[in-house]
Amino acid sequence: MSAQQHHYDIVIVGGGLAGLSAAAYLSHKGKKVAVLERGVLGGRAVTLPIKGFHFNFGAHAIYGRDTSMLRTFEKELGLSIQWQDFSPSKAKYDMGDEVTDVPANILGLFRTKVMGGLDKVSFTFNILKTMLKLESGHPHLSIEKWLEQKNTPDDVREMMLTLASSNFFTKEPEKIPSDVFFRYYSRLFLTNKPVAYIGGGWQALINEFVRVLESNNGAIFTKTKIVGVTHENDRITSVHTEEDSFTADQFIMCIPPKELEKIMTGSKVEGLVKHYAQYDPTYVMVYDIGLKKRIESPYTYIYDKQNNMFITDISYYDTSCTPEGGQLLQATAYLRQADMGNKEVLEAYKAKIEQMYDKHFPGWREELVVPRVSQRAVVQEIKWNMHQQAMPVFFPEYRNLFFAGDWCQGQGQLSELSFSSSLTVCDMILKHD
Ligand SMILES: Cc1cc2nc3c(=O)[nH]c(=O)nc-3n(C[C@H](O)[C@H](O)[C@H](O)COP(=O)(O)OP(=O)(O)OC[C@H]3O[C@@H](n4cnc5c(N)ncnc54)[C@H](O)[C@@H]3O)c2cc1C
Repeated sequence: MSAQQHHYDIVIVGGGLAGLSAAAYLSHKGKKVAVLERGVLGGRAVTLPIKGFHFNFGAHAIYGRDTSMLRTFEKELGLSIQWQDFSPSKAKYDMGDEVTDVPANILGLFRTKVMGGLDKVSFTFNILKTMLKLESGHPHLSIEKWLEQKNTPDDVREMMLTLASSNFFTKEPEKIPSDVFFRYYSRLFLTNKPVAYIGGGWQALINEFVRVLESNNGAIFTKTKIVGVTHENDRITSVHTEEDSFTADQFIMCIPPKELEKIMTGSKVEGLVKHYAQYDPTYVMVYDIGLKKRIESPYTYIYDKQNNMFITDISYYDTSCTPEGGQLLQATAYLRQADMGNKEVLEAYKAKIEQMYDKHFPGWREELVVPRVSQRAVVQEIKWNMHQQAMPVFFPEYRNLFFAGDWCQGQGQLSELSFSSSLTVCDMILKHD
């Protein structure tokens, strides 16, 4: 049957985590839903099988999983997720001449050598304040300015910025708005599950959303690129590819602003979307290696403080991602905007990552089966800093048009933003009925 013969309650454009979670949720609530995806499902959350290894395009660490929006989807939709909890005692900072604990929780805080004794107390106090939500920061104050205003001791400042650098995937943590910083940590320090991986990688999660969607008669159209919309007064009436059009009562756009800009040309929100499309994403370099034999190490996460890069032993948490006896290590380096497109600088990052592998996993070169490098992976479509803001999930110009994705306003960051904006939009649609 050709696509243009269908009318849906809700059409969702984009089959990444935001689009698929919204589609599964709304179909589960009885809506007739279609997902339109230009390529294959998953977006940036894809798992690539190469020579028996399963590489996740980006890591699939879920932060604070017990209070996460993914947990809400899991409970509501009965998703089967094989959680693999990260072990905080195996997370270390490489300080150059020594390796010390990461203060991923209060225990790590007391063990870490990043700070001296008294400063630890002060840092603990700051964390407690965060936990008690007495401190919420201010949107007009970067974390750098906030630390300045509070006369924070240097060591504590250093610790807070190092934490923020590793959690926000940035080389410039001082630019993070202080309210964003405190919101994030007030949640993270209250969780018992600071980081968890999904057994089977992103693909296992994608399969679960698809299972729910299909069992509720949802429709999925892959290789279906939307190129424009039609609108009438304050409503969108259809979206279309070069050949087909899809009509619906409500539309959710789960595609990044730079793509959205193209399809909203000529609409009443063209200028608004353009504004968000000009913002810089958070870029990283990812350098994964699949090894034929494990190289044992006392840590599963090591963060090089000086170079802002880290290695995770993904296969320690998810044994299904390698052939038997193998190991999959993932290195991530945070990049500056100015680094983008500079071949020499990017090559230098790659060499530094290799040095880090040499230092912490000596002998990796002899065991190497597959290297996989992405030089400019988009971790988050809109980077958090004082000059950039997340996009709203709704503009008043159209009453039946919503947005979700990691570029939208929501809770947390990375995929948590995709899930939280998706859930907000679903609730808005369902409450409207
Ligand atoms: C290197 C790396 C590491 C990461 N690490 C983590 C991590 O540890 N933890 C974590 O939570 N998150 C992590 N992330 C982030 C996470 O992958 C993203 O936040 C999430 O996948 C974004 O999903 P989304 O649906 O919001 O957007 P996207 O994945 O960008 O989905 C958008 C979809 O829209 C489709 N599309 C675009 N244009 C059109 C069109 N015109 N018509 C139809 N379809 C269209 C695209 O093909 C895509 O499938 C990482 C990402 C990377 C790259």
